[in-house]
Amino acid sequence: MILKFCKECCECCQEDGYLDIFMSHSDVKKINADCVKKTGQLYKFKKSENFVCHFLSLTGCRLEEKKRPLDCRLFPMTFNLNKNKPEFFFLDACPKISEIPINWIEKTMKEATSELKNWSKKEIMAYVKTEPQWRAIPIRLKKNEKMQRKKLSRWAGN
Ligand code: SF4
Ligand code: SF4
Repeated sequence: MILKFCKECCECCQEDGYLDIFMSHSDVKKINADCVKKTGQLYKFKKSENFVCHFLSLTGCRLEEKKRPLDCRLFPMTFNLNKNKPEFFFLDACPKISEIPINWIEKTMKEATSELKNWSKKEIMAYVKTEPQWRAIPIRLKKNEKMQRKKLSRWAGN
């Protein structure tokens, strides 16, 4: 969640949203806080008392962008593996999905692909298993932007 409208929404940082963020060892090292717990190969946030992420403030996430977990920066995208390479998807939980700029999608996928080199194979496999793929649609940026947007808009019910 680093889109311009995220500050007014913060939906994915509250209630169950932040509890579904999965982090690698390299993510946790950057956060450097004790509000996480190990779960299998990955880490998750511990439940907070007020049901919002430990890092959420009135003006959005308190962590600077490069320190945020990859899962947070990717949202509302996620990934699966295709022939050992990450293949990105959108999740339908974001109300602004049809407004997401194509250049953000391209930039984020590129950064995530590079950052995943810091994740172990076990962490990547564990992450892929946590994602609810039945709620996801593939991203096909090779098609023209208008078509992509129409598809997202229809899919998001806008
Ligand atoms: S739900 Fe979507 S718009 Fe809202 S904060 Fe998350 S990514 Fe941003
Ligand atoms: S770390 Fe920041 S972006 Fe991630 S869930 Fe918490 S407040 Fe939201």
